[in-house]
Formats: sequence, C-alpha cells, structure tokens
Amino acid sequence: MKPDKLKLHAETLAAQGLGRIAEPYRDIVPPVYVSTTYERGADGAFPGGRTYSRADNPTYDQAEQLIATLEGATAAMLLASGEAAAAAVFQALGPGAGVLAPRNMYWALRKWLLDFAAPWGLAVEFYENASIDDLAAKARARRPRLIWIETPANPTWDITDIAAASAIAREVGAIVAVDSTVATPLLTQPIALGAQIVMHSATKYLNGHSDVVAGALATAKDNEFWQRLRYIRGSGGAVLGPLEAWLLLRGMRTLHLRVDAASRNAHAIALRLQGHHKLSHVLYPGLPSHPGHAIAVKQMTGGFGGMMSLRLKAGEDATKIFTAKLRVFKRATSLGSVESLAEHRASVEGPGTQCPVDLVRLSIGVEHLDDLIEDIEQALS
Ligand code: PLP
Repeated sequence: MKPDKLKLHAETLAAQGLGRIAEPYRDIVPPVYVSTTYERGADGAFPGGRTYSRADNPTYDQAEQLIATLEGATAAMLLASGEAAAAAVFQALGPGAGVLAPRNMYWALRKWLLDFAAPWGLAVEFYENASIDDLAAKARARRPRLIWIETPANPTWDITDIAAASAIAREVGAIVAVDSTVATPLLTQPIALGAQIVMHSATKYLNGHSDVVAGALATAKDNEFWQRLRYIRGSGGAVLGPLEAWLLLRGMRTLHLRVDAASRNAHAIALRLQGHHKLSHVLYPGLPSHPGHAIAVKQMTGGFGGMMSLRLKAGEDATKIFTAKLRVFKRATSLGSVESLAEHRASVEGPGTQCPVDLVRLSIGVEHLDDLIEDIEQALS
C-alpha cells in the first residue's frame, strides 16, 4: 500500500513529503521539472497529461497534495505568492459580488481590496474580527458572496470563530475563505470547521526559511468555484516557478517541528513578558488576557502559533528604540521562518495603517528560548 493511503499522522506525512517514491530511479526526493512544454503524441493528444507549464507543472503535484492532505482538503494549488492566491479568490467572484472582510487583516491585502478590488467592482465591507454579532448582522443585511477570515489576524492576532462564521455563511449562502497563514494546517483546520477555501502565504510557515515567495489555496470541494480558480491561475499566469515549488516541499518536511518549536517559544516568551512594567499589552492568543483566547482554545489545536506583538507604554519612539536595540532578533518584515524577526509594524504599513504606533510585531523562530528572552529584556531595559 502507498504510504499516503495509510492513515498516517500529519507529522509523518510532512516529514516524508507524503512518502512517494519517484520512478524510474526510486528516488526519495522528487525531481524538479523545468520543462515549460510537453510533447504531443502523433494523434495530437498529450500522453503525459501535461501541455504547458503555465497551466500546471509536475513539480507542484507533491507539494499540492501534501497541503491538501494536511488541510483535510479535496485539492490544493500553488500560486506565485500569498497575495496572488488571495487575489485569485476575489477575482473568481466577479464584479458586483459582495465581500465581507475583517477590519484588521494583512494590510497589503486590505489595501488591494480598497485600491483595486472595490474600483474593479466588488462591494467590500469590513466586520470586527472578533465580533460574530457584527459579522452576522452585516452578512444578513448584505448577503455577501464571500466572507473572508484571517485568524489569528495580523498584527494583533485577533481570533475569529470559523465555525460560527461558517454557520452564518451557510444561512446567507456565502463562501467562507480563511487566510490560515499564521495558524498553519497543524494548528487550525478551517475546512473541518466549515470553511470552503483555505489560503496560505506559503512564503511563511509552510516554506519556513525566508527563501521562497509562494501562495497556496486548498478547497473543501472540487466544484465550479475551484475550477474557476484553476482557470484564473492558468490564464492570469500568477504561477510558481518549479524550483520554488520544490523548495516549498522541502520546507514542509519540517513544518511540524518548526511550528511546534516556534509555538512553544512564543508561548513561553508571552508568559514571561505578561505584566512587564514597560509593556501595556502582550498580544498573544495563548494568553488568557488576549480577547480571543477562549475561541483560540476551542479552534486551535497543539499550540497558539509563533506570532505575537508587544505594545510599549512609552510610545512610538521608545518602540523604535526597542527594535533598534535587538541583537538576536533580525529587524525585518515577514514571518514564520526559523529565525526570529521583529518590526515596528506601523512604519512598514505606512499611511492609512490601522496598527498602533507603539506596537512591535515579533515572529518567534526556533532559536534557544533563553537567547530570545534575554534579547527582548536587554532591549526593553
Ligand atoms: N496573508 C498573511 C497573513 C500574510 O502575513 C501575508 C504576507 O505577509 C500575506 C497574506 C501575503 O503573502 P505573500 O507575501 O506571500 O504575497
């Protein structure tokens, strides 16, 4: 029996990249298929089942199937970036459709919704991330075609109740799509909670090494909407290069180890810093003081992730000085990699940011916990 037909744990499936052996050499690691085009048979058919690499590439197969398996999805597809993956979902709705999105969400996607998608024809409205009452009232009034969720949401890690939002979506006939980048398929399973589409910036935890920009979508059903998404990828052309797809699969083979180590580090740092006299907030969904903690306990399994934010009582300048004094954390944007990153988020997001100016976002990596805590404490002192 093929390993992927056995009932194996996510850790085993990830470590073995589904356990496939490639013919004809029986290699344990799949090859990179660089060919952009595929030969037709004399009869005009494509005996290899592939035509052209903008439509699909065999290097995607194993990474896509692993993502689908980990998400409990029917299928998954890779795209050129997380933004390309998200944009495909909104474009698949078509002009005129209503969209409900969270007020607090990944800023570049929010900006794209306002600057591009709304003028293009989507009716975009925002709900309060943590208020299912607000979401329900707006969904019943507007009857949107899509409810977008990001949980935990950048950069305050607000939690949205996916199961409750999905029940409302069923009532009003909307699709639920979840940006699950921060949770990863190991900590939250949006499809089991009722969502139809899961989106990842695979640039983050899935790849995990700050060396690939990629996006992924997974679907509960291979239906018309999914086929439309496949068409948008192939015809819009936001495709991933084969080498990036290969690197992504390699990164995913340690996903469980990295997510577990980062979550444990982040939880320990949050516990250590809560109540610190220089901090007004330690924002981490694993802390009972976080407004989304009760829902996070219900919908996240195996940890609360590696993302947290600190707010400094002394304000914006002190927050910038804090990031300048860090020695182990790297001052860089992005998240979900093995190395810890820190950034003054409001200055990255720029004009129109919703982010408090006294907030520093920390992506906790897999380094030794004591080195990270010492670094934060010396920078706060
Ligand atoms: N969603 C979230 C939660 C993100 O953090 C990011 C990037 O930071 C994106 C989407 C966009 O992903 P990408 O940078 O791969 O386009």
